Amino acid sequence: METKPANNFLRALIEQELESGKATEVMTRFPPEPNGFLHIGHASSICLNFGLAEHFGGHCNLRFDDTNPEKESQEYIDAIQRDITWLGFAWQGEVRYASSYFQQFYDWAIYLVEQGRAYVCDLNAEQAREYRGTLTEPGKDSPYRNRSVEENLKLLAGMKAGDFAEGEKVLRAKLDMASPNMIMRDPILYRIRKIHHHQTGNDWVIYPTYDFAHGQEDAIEGITHSICTLEFEGHRPLYNWFIEQLPVPSTPRQFEFGALNLSYTITSKRKLKQLVDERVVESWDDPRMPTISGMRRRGYSAKSIRRFCEMAGVSRSEGMVDVAMLEHAIRDDLNENAPRAMCVLNPLKVVLTNYPQDQTEVLTIACHPSREELGSRKVPFSGELYIDMDDFREEANKKFKRLVLGKRVRLRNAYVIEADQAIKNEAGDIVEIRARIIENTLGENPEDGIKPKGVIHWVAAAGGKRAKVKLYDRLFNDQAPDRGDKNFMDHINAASLRVVEEAWIEPSLLDAVPEQVFQFEREGYFVADRFEHSSETPVFNKTIGLRDTWNN
Ligand code: ATP
Ligand code: MG
Repeated sequence: METKPANNFLRALIEQELESGKATEVMTRFPPEPNGFLHIGHASSICLNFGLAEHFGGHCNLRFDDTNPEKESQEYIDAIQRDITWLGFAWQGEVRYASSYFQQFYDWAIYLVEQGRAYVCDLNAEQAREYRGTLTEPGKDSPYRNRSVEENLKLLAGMKAGDFAEGEKVLRAKLDMASPNMIMRDPILYRIRKIHHHQTGNDWVIYPTYDFAHGQEDAIEGITHSICTLEFEGHRPLYNWFIEQLPVPSTPRQFEFGALNLSYTITSKRKLKQLVDERVVESWDDPRMPTISGMRRRGYSAKSIRRFCEMAGVSRSEGMVDVAMLEHAIRDDLNENAPRAMCVLNPLKVVLTNYPQDQTEVLTIACHPSREELGSRKVPFSGELYIDMDDFREEANKKFKRLVLGKRVRLRNAYVIEADQAIKNEAGDIVEIRARIIENTLGENPEDGIKPKGVIHWVAAAGGKRAKVKLYDRLFNDQAPDRGDKNFMDHINAASLRVVEEAWIEPSLLDAVPEQVFQFEREGYFVADRFEHSSETPVFNKTIGLRDTWNN
């Protein structure tokens, strides 16, 4: 696959702004709502925001946009910080919270009321919908729109003091109920929500809306370029209106870009949460999840995720990026960096009848075919070993370049062997192969000129160990599992996880540390599980196969 040069229109645009003097510095922020783990779409936004700040010598803040407490939690706050750090970025100063500005927002709400720019409205949700109009019909003024400043101040204070029930009153901006932009039709600034907040406890029973909070958070922090996804384009006039109306300390501007969509993937925290809640996956960091934590546990490196985000680019419109591009970035990195090892997933015992049964020789094998600096490992060879069940057939045509009864095959990095006999159990299943090594074939062709057709991997019985291996595949079997009226739950790939309880690994793998990735020869890339792996109970996750089998 071609690696395209990165397209990032925001980088180009900011460059122009700095040249023309429209901007003099670049301060960005990454503003997650702590209501789930971060996913690959967020990774793209992180690379963009931190990347622009870095590129232009500015800074990027991490700010939790925690204005919606019932869906938020400390667990998510911790996970988000861990993921950003792991991706390789550092925010400026302390972590920030929108909630630490709640008093300031409230003061500014009073200011708007005093200016005659905001009012308390008693319409219930259904009535408000009717008054709002439609895309083609203007809305109608609320009957509460002309309350006096004094009355509004009193009611707002009452809302804050908890005198009213949830839904009984809201604070709205006094804008234009006939605006063609529905967002400008007297938007809500505050709602009554009598719930505990993870940062501010029970201090507040009214919470600001995204619209009333976000731009003001940016202004407080001195953000210059407030970057968000396209669905906020229509909110930009409102963003600017607040900045113009309020005595804010700086004048940030909003810029929109097209969100990253990946084929065979969903990027919505709400839907990812449903997968966790309904036990389709084990957790937010299940290796099948497109979360940063999930990809990490799957064995994707931070560098290759960053590389993918750069390759996918940043554009003005939303498009679909092929997941094969992400997988390509992962494979590229692992092919270059993962040490090689051998693991037999479906072990079939081979007894070498002409090899002394009490002998073990230790072979020294390079860890990487082209990178000597990755060193070598000791691999025992003995008269009893395991090959993969799929690598043996009693009879086969010429296309089958593995071990066949009466034929030869090379054991990777070791001898050529020839199979003499397949031993079966009562049910007729093959349980053991009797074979012979061909003398003097370590690194040499057979002296009799009968060359083996193929090479297979193996692990000696001596010194090897059982391991659990989890074979992962794509979670969805549909390119766009949540597009249109599709329900993503109907497109789960039933074969997205297969657990092999008794694979057989070579002894060098007992030194693997959690999160270390290997290429298991001929099988793919595998990572020692971040949480479950130890040398006593080895557990490996399949990161990705050696090549794309989804024929993209
Ligand atoms: P979700 O819909 O998954 O809940 P969100 O946008 O509501 O996503 P936030 O926590 O508000 O989640 O997002 C933090 C930042 O990440 C925002 O600036 C948002 O624009 C950006 N972001 C979210 N999803 C994507 C995506 N798919 N591609 C690029 N940026 C994204
Ligand atoms: Mg959001």
